[in-house]
This record gives sequence, C-alpha cells and structure tokens, in this order.
Amino acid sequence: MYYSKLFPKALKKPPKDAESANAKYLMQGGFVHQEMAGVYSWLPLGLRVLKKVEDIIREELDKLGCQEILMPAIHPKANWEKTGNWDSFDVLFKLKSKIGGEIALGASHEEIITPLVKEFLGSYKDFPIGLYQIQNKYRDELRAKAGVLRGREFGMKDLYSFHTSLKDLEKYYEKVAKVYEKIFKRCGLKAVRTRATGGTFSKFSDEYQVITESGEDTIYYCTKCKVYYNNELVKKGNCSEGHKLEKGERAIEVGNIFKLKTKFSKAFDLTAVNKDGEKKPILMGCYGIGTTRLVGSIVEANHDKNGIIWPKEVAPYDTHLIALFGKDKKINKKVKTVTEKIYKVEKNTLYDDRIDVHPGEKFAVADLIGAPTRIIVSEKTLAKKMIEIKNRKTGKIKMQKI
Ligand code: ATP
Ligand code: MG
Repeated sequence: MYYSKLFPKALKKPPKDAESANAKYLMQGGFVHQEMAGVYSWLPLGLRVLKKVEDIIREELDKLGCQEILMPAIHPKANWEKTGNWDSFDVLFKLKSKIGGEIALGASHEEIITPLVKEFLGSYKDFPIGLYQIQNKYRDELRAKAGVLRGREFGMKDLYSFHTSLKDLEKYYEKVAKVYEKIFKRCGLKAVRTRATGGTFSKFSDEYQVITESGEDTIYYCTKCKVYYNNELVKKGNCSEGHKLEKGERAIEVGNIFKLKTKFSKAFDLTAVNKDGEKKPILMGCYGIGTTRLVGSIVEANHDKNGIIWPKEVAPYDTHLIALFGKDKKINKKVKTVTEKIYKVEKNTLYDDRIDVHPGEKFAVADLIGAPTRIIVSEKTLAKKMIEIKNRKTGKIKMQKI
C-alpha cells in the first residue's frame, strides 16, 4: 500500500480526550474514528488488524469442528420476553418498529440460537454441536470509555455449544479453554484464565484476562490454588477456598466461557430424544471473545511512548518501507527505483512514498503505526550500497547489502 494513497493519514497529535493508549494511538494512527461515545468506524488500517484477529479465531474454532453462522442484529421482542431478559438485561437497546411492535438490538444471541437449534435438531444423534458467529453487538453501556475497550457497538465472537450430558459439556468446555489460550497467544497476548462467578446455573465461569494497568477489572492470584480469581469472588481478601490473597492486579477481560447448562434450553424447550425415547433438555455452553476489545487490548499491552508495537500475526503490515528524498533529483530517482524494487518483492508492506515530507515525520508515523519491521532507503544508505532495517520492538538496527 502506498502511504500517499492511504485513507486517512495519521494525525499530527492524538485527540484531546483520548485517555487510554488504545484510544490515543488507534485514533491518531488512523485505525479507527470515533462517531459518538462508544461507537467507532474501523478504517483501512484498523480493519486489517481486526480481520487478522477474526481469522485467527475462525481458524482455531474451525479446527475444533465448530461451524460459522451469522445471526441477525435485530431481534423479536418475544424471544427476549421468553427468557425475562427484555426487562432484566439493563443495557438492552429497544426500538419501535414502524410496522408495529418492538425490537431488541442484539446484545447477545442465546435468544436467537436456542430456538434456531430447536427448529432443526431433536435427537441425541444430532449432538454435540458448536455454532459460532463474529458479529457486532449492541449495548447501551453507561460507561462507554477507554477507546474500543468498552463500546456501545462492538465486535464479538460468540460460540454456543449444545450437549446431551453434563459430562460432554464439561469436556467440550475444557477443549474451548485450550483453544482460547492458543488464540490469545497468536494475537500476541498473555491472557490468564481467571475464575469468576457463574451466575445462577453454574458455580464458576472462566474469564480470560490480560494483565495491564489500564484494565477495568482487578484479579488476584492464589499461590495455593494456583488460580487467578476475579474481584467479585474474593471475600475479605480470601479466595473461594479460604486462602489469603496477595495484592490484586488490573486486567482487561478479553473473553469468557460459561456453562449455561439448561438456562436457555428450558426457556425455549430445546430437548433431544435419548436412546430410550425420552425427551431430555439440552445442556448449553457459551463462549465469548470481544474482537474489537481484543484489538484495543493488544495496543494496551504492546506500545511505547511513540506508538503501537504490533505482534507479528496481527500487524496491519509486516513492513513499513520508507524512501527518504532530498534535493538532488538524480539521487531521488535512484532512491525511488531501489525502494520500488523492494516494494515489489516484500509482501504486506506499507510504503511511505511521499516526496515533500520531512524524514522525522516519516519516522514518527512508522513508530505510531507500529509495523514490526521498518526499512529505510536514502542517499546515505545507498552511498554504502545498503538499506537500513529496524526492529520496531527492540529498536535494533542492521544494515543490509542490496
Ligand atoms: P464486561 O464484564 O466487560 O462488561 P461481559 O461479561 O458482559 O463483559 P459478555 O457479555 O460475556 O461480557 O461478552 C463476551 C466478551 O465480549 C467479553 O469477554 C468482552 O471481551 C467483550 N465485551 C463485552 N462487553 C463489551 C463492550 N461493551 N465493548 C467491547 N467489548 C465487550
Ligand atoms: Mg464480565
């Protein structure tokens, strides 16, 4: 991609009200644009990162045998009334339709997937099954702040699994837990499995937390259980097993996994006929990853004072190629020829080909956008028949012969 053509260019300064690193750098770098509190447009650079994250998730879930679907963003009120969530889900967006009746904007999709599965499956032979989607969710969050970490419209991968026995659900749940570890690792994040309360139907659920100063949550490590606990579990400085806990750490919840058991299948009468011909309720699990929050968390965990340091697998571009031009037209032509040649060979490169831009500004943009490798071609490097290669993370520079 020619930087001269890229929409939009990086801003000279971060937006004034950007408090967190992800808000600051994602907006200044031209990855996202804020439309209102908690609502963002994803611009070409940001969308490249988001798609890479989504593709990692797809790849890993498909390997597990899950199937991708896409459910609607607008939901019938009746489904949400059936579970009681029309009244109890406090951040649900509710719309009035011109053709009559009310509609919910999808805040989660148990209310759609449960009756959907009931429509097609009903024998024990049909299970287990795992269905997922990657889609925007809508929640009228009161505290939409910290950039893309807490949005009112945000991306989520939601997987739902369906089982005929608790043992099968538990086995599957642990498999997903392993897959989650792989996904976060590939995204360049260390996300720790953290025990949280499980709601009415299960004692515990698990969250995946990225330990970083800017996190909203506080988690505690129990050296005896060798388990992280979420704040809400922790009573009087003790873990749920009664052990004394050490100081808490700030963290961002990037994903969570829940055993819903029969909570939704009972509401929608989702059953399967077993071997003896009896109808039994299906047991469900649900597994979320906040895809847009994940991008924000990667920035929170991977940046310095100059900008973002993207982990390789999710970087918008592998290489940021810079041509430095001076006053001498002949030399400029040579610099351009060499740079264009590199651009043709190096895949996945952002090429700053701008002519009247100061070198310092080009370097600042490269640091801000955060591609893992920066290559410079200039009069100085060509005089030695070299190009300069810099590692964004380590700052190490090496010269390479051309
Ligand atoms: P939180 O505790 O942060 O409010 P949650 O427990 O309500 O989130 P779920 O409804 O289970 O989260 O959603 C699954 C995942 O979606 C979360 O783990 C988180 O990564 C992400 N997520 C939830 N709410 C938001 C939001 N408002 N903006 C961005 N991502 C979100
Ligand atoms: Mg939570």
